[in-house]
Amino acid sequence: MKELCRKCIAVGLSLLLVLLPEISTQAQAQLSTAPQVSQLPLHDYLQKSYLDLFTLAPKLTFNASDVEKERQALKSGENSCKSRFKDHAKLYEKQIDAARADLKRGGAQLADQPRHELHCRIQNLELLHSEADVLSSQAIPNAYDNLNAKLDLLVRWPEQYGRIQAAIDDGSYHNRRWGDVKDIGFREIAAGQRDDIKRGKDAVTELKAAGLLPPELENKAIQQYVKSVADRVAQHSDLKVPLHITVLQSKEINAFALPGGYLYVERGLLEEADDEAQLAGVIAHEIAHDTARHSAKLMKRASIASLFYQAAQVAAMVLTGGVAGIGLYYALQYGFYGLGMVLSLKLLGVSRDYELEADQLGIQYAWNSGYDTSGFTRFFDKMATKVGYVNGVSWFRTHPPFYQRMVDAQREIMFMPKKEGGTVQTPEFLEMKKNLAPVTAEAEKEEADKPSLLLTKEEGCAPPKKLEYKPGQPIEQLCSAEPRSVEGTIK
Ligand SMILES: [Zn+2]
Repeated sequence: MKELCRKCIAVGLSLLLVLLPEISTQAQAQLSTAPQVSQLPLHDYLQKSYLDLFTLAPKLTFNASDVEKERQALKSGENSCKSRFKDHAKLYEKQIDAARADLKRGGAQLADQPRHELHCRIQNLELLHSEADVLSSQAIPNAYDNLNAKLDLLVRWPEQYGRIQAAIDDGSYHNRRWGDVKDIGFREIAAGQRDDIKRGKDAVTELKAAGLLPPELENKAIQQYVKSVADRVAQHSDLKVPLHITVLQSKEINAFALPGGYLYVERGLLEEADDEAQLAGVIAHEIAHDTARHSAKLMKRASIASLFYQAAQVAAMVLTGGVAGIGLYYALQYGFYGLGMVLSLKLLGVSRDYELEADQLGIQYAWNSGYDTSGFTRFFDKMATKVGYVNGVSWFRTHPPFYQRMVDAQREIMFMPKKEGGTVQTPEFLEMKKNLAPVTAEAEKEEADKPSLLLTKEEGCAPPKKLEYKPGQPIEQLCSAEPRSVEGTIK
């Protein structure tokens, strides 16, 4: 199954690489000096998983001009793909202006039918405009960030790997920040964790009052299972406050930590995780945010009240479907953003250093709890490599660039003292998956039954004949498809 999907994305990407004119000169990679590995063309490696690349890269050599060609090809591929959708957005804007001008010209004398048709036309165009906008500003850059990170990894990992090995050999790795992993639970990552309890509790109350938190998932067995995994990690971490963990009824693939031990896992994350080590890896990362008091540090920069105000504004736009909110509403529908992301960006802030620190500590906590330490990386890898991974984009957008994250995580994994038999899978995880299936099916049915366009102002309009993007469609397909005329897509 996994292999199949890798192949699909490989096909999608090769199409992209072949069809875009700027990429037509395929970089021919030099044959490796390592005899066992028969080397593929450089761009073929960009479809492999990060974990495969960690193993493969040290055995491969590429010449600098091929690397440069590939980098240029990615750059022009991204630019042409982005500008295609920017152009679409501009055209839609013009069409909206024209329709508005028609309305104005018609004035009070305009008959009901042509007025209705114009309203529908504007409504549909606004949707398409939002779609094109989200694609060019979010989804496409994200897809290319991922490819660039893999190219960087091929070029830079072999040297990094050598340095990591040297640090292990001479013992200097013990001196890194938080290198005292044998003292987990007895060291202090940040003083004053207890001060965060009230802050976290207040945040939860306010979020609920503002209607910003999705409802709790009602299935007790699933809640209990996730709590047991989180408790196991928390007991083997530096957390000094009680842990409250809640699974939310939301399809977003995300988890977030409010201060003081208030952790939230969204249903989408449970759907995407393949094994308990992956889930534990993500939970450990979130627990690390609390042990290091990242949100407390970030919140000092802005008053909590003003942050809540911002988040509430965003939510209000989404719920009322105001014109300003259409883009965001659309994005939410497709999983480009989710509430977890809004919270992370607006309330908790995003700091590259804090994310890297949470990755490092999270790996340590997973290790100390007896989990397979690669769980976090494997989950990340899956999200980045999966066909249609756009749906998991909220996880990425709240986190720092791919390359450094993957390399730093791999380094920390290599620094962990060896332990035999780390937990990867458990019967309880598989049981949870069984319980989750009907819950997901029910939630999806409910979503489908809901009037899908909260923002519909004009009733009785035929939807646009063709949308810019189908949920689940790989971004690469969008970029490789023949440019279609935007004119005439709406009647
Ligand atoms: Zn994080």
